[in-house]
Amino acid sequence: MQELLMVRYGEIYLKGLNRPYFQNLLLARIKSALNNLTSKVTLHDSRIYIRDMKDSAACLHAVQRVFGVHSICPAIEMDKEDFAAVCEQAFQLMSGLSGGFKVFARRADKRYELDSPQICAAIGEYVLKRNKDLHVDVKNPEHKLNIEIRDKAYLYINVFAGPGGMPIGSNGKATLLLSGGIDSPVAGYMIAKRGVALSAVHFYSFPYTGERAKQKVLKLAQLLAAYCGELRLFLVPFTEIQMSIHEKCPADYTTLIMRRFMMKIAEIIAKDEKSQALITGESIGQVASQTMRSLACTDAVVTLPVFRPVIGFDKIDIISYAKNIGTFATSSLPYEDCCTVFTPKHPQTQPKIEAVEEAELFIDNIEDLINQAVQNSELIQL
Ligand code: ATP
Ligand code: MG
Repeated sequence: MQELLMVRYGEIYLKGLNRPYFQNLLLARIKSALNNLTSKVTLHDSRIYIRDMKDSAACLHAVQRVFGVHSICPAIEMDKEDFAAVCEQAFQLMSGLSGGFKVFARRADKRYELDSPQICAAIGEYVLKRNKDLHVDVKNPEHKLNIEIRDKAYLYINVFAGPGGMPIGSNGKATLLLSGGIDSPVAGYMIAKRGVALSAVHFYSFPYTGERAKQKVLKLAQLLAAYCGELRLFLVPFTEIQMSIHEKCPADYTTLIMRRFMMKIAEIIAKDEKSQALITGESIGQVASQTMRSLACTDAVVTLPVFRPVIGFDKIDIISYAKNIGTFATSSLPYEDCCTVFTPKHPQTQPKIEAVEEAELFIDNIEDLINQAVQNSELIQL
């Protein structure tokens, strides 16, 4: 008899020829999440098993952050041939519980001598006789006792939800424009959850944005890295560009022009990183630079697809998502972002692309500024 964690993954991704690829990638991701906790992680019969755990709560917590995991059950594994011992173990598992219960049996080994209804009946009866605080409730049971007959018997009560999604790396790589705000970490999480590896780009404007703002972004990147494994963060100095825009361009276009610089620089880094897309935390109409026309003007300077997974979310929905994934508290720290430096009083909300391009002509060394910013960026490996 042995305690272990039994991990289930989403069925819909398992069809066809991709199945072994997906399974092995998920196995690798789980192994690396459990790096310091146990090395006994195996794939067998459509389940992943985690054994030899010194700290099962820590293992559970780690696996709950691995994309591709559907659910995790702390289970007891035992010899299926000794059915009397299985019944006794079921009773032990239910000891101390009271109220309605139901037994669920699943017989993956079709040669097993008892079928599922017989297993349910025998175990239900055994438990009921010995625990007088329990009664059978098939409609709305408070406790669900699960028995799976596979190469061995597996018994469990609790099922913990995983994050869902697909394992990181199964869907390529994208580069996130990571501000210190609430929206961009959520956007990064949502795309990473679909199996996309991330790298991130952050623009800072020293001395207008300080050391604490930088630390905040580092912390956000670390929080994301806890889900998506390694993450390369590029810190890009942006002061000179912002000063040039502020000094030379018409005030109502400055925010939009700044956004276009950000996108161009991010794209250069993204292509270098072999990313296939950019990600931002923009949502329609949230601020002047996020009207549909403004978004069209920022898209116009890049060729990579730009993913904006929170585009249709209200701020309140993004906040609740951020709370769920654990980024909200850090995002709420009150340090300046470079976007809030030199903000015009009346930014354009319905810009025309020709007018933006014309306004940009006042800066005659755009390419130099961009190249310098890329060259002077600092890489932090998380
Ligand atoms: P967030 O909460 O993500 O900061 P926001 O509501 O503050 O969003 P903006 O400041 O207009 O909106 O930024 C829109 C998007 O542009 C952000 O979601 C992010 O993807 C990107 N962005 C903004 N500022 C930066 C920055 N300093 N570095 C990198 N990306 C940024
Ligand atoms: Mg922001």
